[in-house]
Amino acid sequence: AAGAQMPLLAHLNPEQRAAVTLPAGHALILAGAGSGKTRVLTTRIAWLLQTGQAAPGEILAVTFTNKAAKEMLTRLSAMLPISVRGMWIGTFHGLCNRMLRAHHKLVGLPQTFQILDAQDQLSAVKRLLKAHQVDEEHHPPRQVAWFINGCKEEGLRPDAVPAPNDETRQRVELYRLYEAQCQREGVVDFAELLLRSYELLRDHAPVRAHYQRRFAHILVDEFQDTNRLQYLWLKQLAGDVVDGQFTPRGSVMAVGDDDQSIYAFRGARVGNMQDFVREFAVGQQIKLEENYRSCSNILDSANALIAHNSRRLGKNLRTARGPGEPVRIHEAESDLMEARWLVDEIRQLAADGMARQHIAVLYRSNAQSRALESQLFNAGVPYRVYGGLRFFERAEIKHALAYLRLLENPHDDTSFARVVNFPPRGIGARTLEVLQDAARAAGCSLWDAVSSVGGSAGTKLGGFVALVEVMRERSSGQSLRAIIEQVVEGSGLAGHYRQDKEGEDRLDNLKELVSAAESFVMQEGFGRDAVALPVDETAALTQSPVSQGVDPDAPMGGPQLDAAAGETLSPLVAFLTHAALEAGDNQAQAGQDAVQLMTVHASKGLEFDAVFICGLEEGLFPHENAMADQGGLEEERRLMYVAITRARKRLYLSHAQVRMLHGQTRYNMASRFFDELPEGALKHLTPQRRSAGSFATDYRAYSERQSRVSGGFDLDYSSLGSAGLPARKEAPAHGITQGAQVFHTKFGEGRVLAIEGQGEDARAQVAFTRHGTKWLALAIAKLTLVE
Ligand code: ATP
Ligand code: MG
Repeated sequence: AAGAQMPLLAHLNPEQRAAVTLPAGHALILAGAGSGKTRVLTTRIAWLLQTGQAAPGEILAVTFTNKAAKEMLTRLSAMLPISVRGMWIGTFHGLCNRMLRAHHKLVGLPQTFQILDAQDQLSAVKRLLKAHQVDEEHHPPRQVAWFINGCKEEGLRPDAVPAPNDETRQRVELYRLYEAQCQREGVVDFAELLLRSYELLRDHAPVRAHYQRRFAHILVDEFQDTNRLQYLWLKQLAGDVVDGQFTPRGSVMAVGDDDQSIYAFRGARVGNMQDFVREFAVGQQIKLEENYRSCSNILDSANALIAHNSRRLGKNLRTARGPGEPVRIHEAESDLMEARWLVDEIRQLAADGMARQHIAVLYRSNAQSRALESQLFNAGVPYRVYGGLRFFERAEIKHALAYLRLLENPHDDTSFARVVNFPPRGIGARTLEVLQDAARAAGCSLWDAVSSVGGSAGTKLGGFVALVEVMRERSSGQSLRAIIEQVVEGSGLAGHYRQDKEGEDRLDNLKELVSAAESFVMQEGFGRDAVALPVDETAALTQSPVSQGVDPDAPMGGPQLDAAAGETLSPLVAFLTHAALEAGDNQAQAGQDAVQLMTVHASKGLEFDAVFICGLEEGLFPHENAMADQGGLEEERRLMYVAITRARKRLYLSHAQVRMLHGQTRYNMASRFFDELPEGALKHLTPQRRSAGSFATDYRAYSERQSRVSGGFDLDYSSLGSAGLPARKEAPAHGITQGAQVFHTKFGEGRVLAIEGQGEDARAQVAFTRHGTKWLALAIAKLTLVE
């Protein structure tokens, strides 16, 4: 009762309040979408601080995105008149980065280590394959990177990876070589941030003891999407393993929703929830069943849909918000028409007074955004894309960042290779190969190998080195802004884009980089996550008895722990880290009232007044790559559940009969998810479904229209000839079954993944060896069975 009087707790229901005020100990809150999990987590932190049960420095909170972390900090500052500085709130990557910077010597990294994003990692792998003359056909760079990340996410170094066959043994060897390359260059990829940090805690008892003592309260949002390694990391912080026996300590509160687990493809393990309950002997499990976000038509739709999944922990969700508006369903003739309809609808909503920033357009694949963007752009509707090509991933920005990274660390070969000939300065691929050979022979960086290359190639390379050195000298003592401006000009990037007719956007983006840096310095004071241990932290470390060498098991205790004493990161390194870890939204768009475009994955945890879910078609959503097995399909359904539950008041679901994607036209059936929604909650904006059998006629008309404007078709119409459609008759018994090996005149050999529909409408999904996965209409496509 005393609790209820606290203003902090006033806006909570009894279950939420119980969760917020739980005594210290391990707790799991398992609850559906919009039930206030994140609100409970944030309020719990505020409550712990306000009641004096915890100091800010004792809090560690893990959020799924940087955006969520910022939001949590903002809310906390609004709730309490305290400095939130001492708290560690961030993503796993952000928190691990912070830890590694503080103990870089212990883990064998330069303090200024650079972070490779997915793109950088891929080019690093490509460089590796080339250097070791590995055939890319046999070991596609993407697969190699995927393999390496997979191993790391399981917590496995090369020596520990089971390799049952030659193929895997080769991959493991590549993993080993890749590690050596990264180490030499002083760079770490995303998965490495976690693995290194985990090993730091596991292998250095004093460090572990320090953080265990420090973080009395650990809180984790979106727990269902943690992977194996993240869970292991948490265990290091919140318990000890003695003789293989885990003894939990401290207080961990995890909140999650098994129905919203959507990152299995990246190694997330819902099983972590069960493990958590068991290994931490979780005494407190709280369920939240009231949804505060959505009206009941929306919520009923979500509930009905997810009920089709078999593997669920089972939760109920109700809302007191009343039925609200029906869920609107729209069928468009084509993706283009879908986009036009969407723009009209958005304009109408805006005219009716809805703020554009409260409208979200969600899609399954990034590739879908282009068509939507161009319509919004043409119509002059301000919009903002999240998670597509992030600002910091744009080519011109990456170039500028590469120069900046070279200023800090010339041995960063990824950056070196990226800009040694950009803007072009006559250094060809051949020269680069010679340089790479020399570097490998000498076991040194490309930078150091330059002096060993002679002739005119050597002169040119020397010129590049000199250029970087001049820029570095000029940078010393300068502000971040001045350094970036200097580099953008001095590197020749600005000049290059000025000469390029289409370089204007890129020049603007480079200017934007300067603004991004400015606001970074101003708002963040170099970025909370990027800065090394604050002074008090360091002091705490050196004073703790274990770190003074009392613990005989600590091989590198004592002064080593003091790694960060007196050192702070330069603003440049802090900014480069921020660039690698941040979503990097275009600052210019930030303040605008703009419609929000994003993938469903990126929408997790967010909410909007109106939500459009586009491209609800078989093969797209559910995605074709996930349809082959039950597990994949269930993950797609959870994804759809996440999408639906983002909506507060109004929800639109749309699909198109025909769509251009990846340069190909595809005929798509409406998503099966439509059939899983309760009819009573829906309203069809377009006449429902075409009558059976009309498919061929519709498609034929469409394809004639399209063939004038576009090339290739996914569907093979070659057999129709010019005489028009074959008379409508029963499709021949094709004899093609799931799993069959087939041959197609245009796409070659492939394996049938799935068959759908009957007779004339029967379609097969085929994974072609050379041409990827496609849906083909069996009545039309020339497929023959291969023995
Ligand atoms: P998700 O599963 O999507 O992450 P969630 O469980 O984290 O959702 P929140 O985002 O915390 O849910 O809350 C959903 C919405 O409901 C928010 O707008 C939140 O402010 C509101 N809300 C939560 N609890 C209450 C309450 N007791 N009274 C009024 N509004 C509430
Ligand atoms: Mg949430």
